[in-house]
Amino acid sequence: MKKIFVANFKMNKTNPEVLDYIQELNNHLPESLSSDVCLCLPYTSLCLGKFLDERIAVGAQNMHEEDFGPFTGEISADMLCCLGVKYVIIGHSERRKYFNETNEKINKKIKTALRHGLKVVLCVGETKVQRNSKRTTEILSQQIESALSGIFENELKGIIIAYEPVWAIGTGKVASSEDIEEAVKTIRKLISSHYSKQAAQDQKILYGGSLTSGTAKSILKIDGICGALVGGASLDPNELIKIISWFSLKVI
Ligand code: PEP
Repeated sequence: MKKIFVANFKMNKTNPEVLDYIQELNNHLPESLSSDVCLCLPYTSLCLGKFLDERIAVGAQNMHEEDFGPFTGEISADMLCCLGVKYVIIGHSERRKYFNETNEKINKKIKTALRHGLKVVLCVGETKVQRNSKRTTEILSQQIESALSGIFENELKGIIIAYEPVWAIGTGKVASSEDIEEAVKTIRKLISSHYSKQAAQDQKILYGGSLTSGTAKSILKIDGICGALVGGASLDPNELIKIISWFSLKVI
């Protein structure tokens, strides 16, 4: 299966910095690139996506659930689509934590994004406290069941689920292979019980949390992992190139 790599710049890089990044990335992309790659840029840089090599898609890090209206400072799905955006991250733990995004809001955002033809990267994952109190399965179930409430099976092809243990994001701590495998199984089981075995098998699941070029190989070999959501490491174009290149050279 084709691997998928989603780079999340978060609130980093000005437009001149993004332009330098794009130039570096375009110049060093492997000719044999065989993965889907998406750069989730800050809103202010989405207009620069047109300078990216055509094999790289542009993504946003968030969007509002309403189509338009009095929501000062917010961005709609239409606005993203007009800029050529193809992917949108929804439910990132930083949005859940700092911007009070609830599972209900995330569900609305997913429905709006799908209606506009955007591919959704839905982030789910437990905190350290939840893991320590053995609530990982319960939390993943809550997050996925609410996020997918009212979503039809044929719409799942527009949704990529990123398993991102909150305690691994930006901390330098990577989840163990066993923990990732367990979470992937839980996610597939949920999809199977709410939809079908086929849907569970087809569901694209990424890992995210302090992944670097040093840890990518072993994580991406884990059964059922289809790619990665990369935050900090993606800010260096050469690091991102290393992560995506390995899979272009070795077709898995
Ligand atoms: C993220 O922001 O989704 C992420 C995985 O960040 P990092 O790679 O820096 O942990």
